Amino acid sequence: MYRLILVILISALTACGSSMDYYHSPNFNSSLNRFRHPDGDPSVKKPSELFAIIREFSKRKYDQSAQNGFPVAFSKQDELSTFSESVMWIGQSTILLNHKGLTILTDPQFSNRASPLFFGGPKRVTPTPFKIKDLPDIDLVLISHNHYDHLDRSSIRDLIKHQPSIQFMVPLGLAPKLRKWGAVDVIELDWWQAIKFEDVEIQPTPVQHWSKRSLFDRNKSLWAGWMIKWDDFSFYFAGDSGYSDDFKETAKKLGNPTLAAIPIGAYEPRDFMKAAHMNPEEAVKTFNDLGAKYGVALHWGTFKLTTERMDEPPERLLQSLKDQEISSDKFRALGHGEKWDAPFSEKMYE
Ligand SMILES: [Zn+2]
Repeated sequence: MYRLILVILISALTACGSSMDYYHSPNFNSSLNRFRHPDGDPSVKKPSELFAIIREFSKRKYDQSAQNGFPVAFSKQDELSTFSESVMWIGQSTILLNHKGLTILTDPQFSNRASPLFFGGPKRVTPTPFKIKDLPDIDLVLISHNHYDHLDRSSIRDLIKHQPSIQFMVPLGLAPKLRKWGAVDVIELDWWQAIKFEDVEIQPTPVQHWSKRSLFDRNKSLWAGWMIKWDDFSFYFAGDSGYSDDFKETAKKLGNPTLAAIPIGAYEPRDFMKAAHMNPEEAVKTFNDLGAKYGVALHWGTFKLTTERMDEPPERLLQSLKDQEISSDKFRALGHGEKWDAPFSEKMYE
């Protein structure tokens, strides 16, 4: 038995140690053999801190929303097949967006758990508004990073089964995994590396986060936000991020997005989560830093990941918008499956 465990451990270690070839990237630290944000990896924790958070999580207060979930706007297949000039929040960081005939899906997560295990790990508290087979034809899937609530193997496999020719775009280091899962067209890009896809320009941007999917692969693949620019509209997908100066830099380099998808949940205990997840007040700062015209909230109400009440992020978002004298029509926490057309209205192009 011990010999078997040893063999598994050695093969896992050697498997992870090989095939890293990202030395050309300015965001790859060759001495660490890992990707690195200029501000380092403040999310890395000592074992004692990890035990403290597990203790904190086990002592968390009863959360009614984690039991009941949130209301869902269930979509019929015929409504989805004509989905156009709109954005829909499906749950967690999964966004469906269509503009000028191009349909984009971000971080598809349709599973019952955000976990490598089917019997354990964060369980979905709010059902998906429809199934993957009911999605409209997707042109492009964007992936922010490899955490389980953002990159879900069975969702990707199901998507490929129904729509085999989808184009995937991922941050550096993730293409081999997607190809292993059956994706045919995968492009991996570094931060600020621009690519033209049909009539749009696409660019991953730095965000303050990290990646890890197994014991030994911390920061072996990159994490990113994404800017997509049409000639008359732009969409920024922040993925998963702590608050940082990256958003000011993104706006300076790439302009102000028409619509920004910004995370608002999974932020307590604050000291522990701050480096990786912004809170609603920081989400409003991010919205301002980006100079976005509209904002849509991500990363709340879907999986219980942290200790704050699951219904708290949208309440605090509303309060923060009020404090900043920003209309609540500009930055919305949509319900699961809710569509929003206003960012695509003709007025945007005047
Ligand atoms: Zn993450």
